[in-house]
Amino acid sequence: MKIGVLALQGAVAEHIKSLQQAGADEVVPVKWPADLEGLDGLVLPGGESTTIGKLMNKYELMEPVREMAERGVPMFGTCAGLILLANRIEGQDWAHLGVFDVLVNRNSFGRQVDSFETDLEVKDMEGDEKYTAVFIRAPHIIEVGDQVEVLSTFNDRVVTARQGHIIGASFHPELTDDVRLHKYFLKMVDEAKQVRV
Ligand code: GLN
Repeated sequence: MKIGVLALQGAVAEHIKSLQQAGADEVVPVKWPADLEGLDGLVLPGGESTTIGKLMNKYELMEPVREMAERGVPMFGTCAGLILLANRIEGQDWAHLGVFDVLVNRNSFGRQVDSFETDLEVKDMEGDEKYTAVFIRAPHIIEVGDQVEVLSTFNDRVVTARQGHIIGASFHPELTDDVRLHKYFLKMVDEAKQVRV
């Protein structure tokens, strides 16, 4: 199982480490279109979505990543990565990859408080303990499409959701030692691989 981490900006090394701890065989940073070759899954980290989107266009990654998502290759977007996957962004009439049927609000928690941690219940995640989630100028999901399943909410706001092979989280799962969400993603990758074989 070979997983890529989009390495244009953000917490790339932390995601690579979490994926390795979660049991991925091979994890590679993705900077160029050639790095996408042979990937079974891709993680889109947090950072600043406008900047990452511009860099994806500049490095000619936008089209091939979209095409991979459309082919059913699992993708996991965290924070800015969730915004990149979304097909609707509040207050603007365009999206980035547009492969995840959700409406997102950027910087949803920003005004009240910039960064915070909270314990979440995440549907279908292994173990009984809650998951400590780190939010940094985080987006939230305002609306989900028919095919999208809500996995966790915080103060009635959707902060984790899944649509088949796509999963998005508002927070930063790579910044804690708890790798259960990365394990959940690797399970999605495993399932998708079996379907494709
Ligand atoms: N607020 C950022 C954005 O709109 C995302 C923040 C993050 O990834 N920590 O892109």
